[in-house]
Amino acid sequence: MDLQEQPASYRYESGMGAESESPSGFDEQKARNGVRLLLEAIGRNPDEAELYETWNRRVPKMLETLSEGMRDGEKPMLRMFDAESDELIVKTGIPLYSLCEHHLLPFHGSAHVAYRPDEEMVGLSKLVRYVRWRSRRLTTQEELTRDIATGLAAELDANGVLVELTATHMCEAMRGVETQTATTTRETVGNITDVDRRRFRNSIRRDAEQSGGSF
Ligand SMILES: [Zn+2]
Repeated sequence: MDLQEQPASYRYESGMGAESESPSGFDEQKARNGVRLLLEAIGRNPDEAELYETWNRRVPKMLETLSEGMRDGEKPMLRMFDAESDELIVKTGIPLYSLCEHHLLPFHGSAHVAYRPDEEMVGLSKLVRYVRWRSRRLTTQEELTRDIATGLAAELDANGVLVELTATHMCEAMRGVETQTATTTRETVGNITDVDRRRFRNSIRRDAEQSGGSF
């Protein structure tokens, strides 16, 4: 840490200056100001040497990463190739990490995704990357479930999409509101048959059995 860089008396300047706003649209200077104010709010002095990197670099960088899903420029490329059939394609057990817009705390768990391709499909790893990108935003579990389903339907030009998210919310667990309960949300877009739905459910059940967890 270089103490020389630290201003003697910090000034909460406007963050909208040209040099503080990165090309991605994230306002780093505002994030610095905000983290300093939060530290002050809980009675810590942000000018303590131990906290300098916290507000000056670490938390702003973390926020920039964890809000990538709000910026289309950071959306992963989904390279499509010809689908050999219109069979349902299923990917279960995708790691899910997002931020609750009510408390700015994480919710995490698993995402399960299925789609019925029209003419083209993507590799399963791309579904994982899409879910990760889409989750990096302030949102609610319900809204994220809808966003992933409608977003994938549009990106893949799919005939139908099924999404199920199961997540534990830190804002509940850490405050002792609900310590163990996981919440499940579901969304369907397009034409999905009962057979598709059953296949999706069976895949999720197998995934849960294999991982041995409650997800
Ligand atoms: Zn919350």
